[in-house]
Amino acid sequence: MRILVVEDEHKIAQAIKRALELEHYAVDVCFDGDEGYAMATTEPYDAAIIDRMLPGDYDGLAIVQEMREAGIHTPVLFLTAMASTRDKTTGLDSGADDYLTKPFAIEELLARVRALLRRPTESQATILSAGDLSLDTTNLQVSRSGKSIMLTSREFALLEYLLRNQRRPISKDMIIAHVWDYDADILPNTVEVYMRYLRNKVDKPFKKPLLHTVRGFGYKLEAAP
Ligand code: CA
Repeated sequence: MRILVVEDEHKIAQAIKRALELEHYAVDVCFDGDEGYAMATTEPYDAAIIDRMLPGDYDGLAIVQEMREAGIHTPVLFLTAMASTRDKTTGLDSGADDYLTKPFAIEELLARVRALLRRPTESQATILSAGDLSLDTTNLQVSRSGKSIMLTSREFALLEYLLRNQRRPISKDMIIAHVWDYDADILPNTVEVYMRYLRNKVDKPFKKPLLHTVRGFGYKLEAAP
């Protein structure tokens, strides 16, 4: 299990990291909102612990909102010094699964994390579809018109991202940010190459194309009405 911790107070962040590592979780720590946002939306985590107030363009609330908009259902525990009821509800409304008010006992944090990990990570359907194409995020199966399609893990991630955002034009930069790792040095060219691979497998053997080029911008996945 891999957990992301976004907390700008280094002492608290390190204490959480140590406690989680003792429980055999793999832990990544970010100290500001922008890095936290980048990690949360590109790396696959089983849970995230995110402080509400963070330096940078993204505070905790914005990170969770962006995650949910991108179809990322990683359970999130909010850390907050703001204990008013209104702050708690806005935190939960933004898509966080639970919150913990500072100061907290580390045992309570561990208990909350265990509870989060017991919940199903996908609150939405695990089968995404468009027209006769379907993708199962649980068993990593893709099929079209009942025919199974073999994809590499990167092609699968690309198709999943396009499916989660179907009918919306998606830029190459958005694809790079969501489908490749934080440290990967990817050029728009690479996206074109992978889109070609994907088209060869997903569109070429079938009558109606699902993957469309949006000239001067990027791509769109859309099934013909
Ligand atoms: Ca803070």
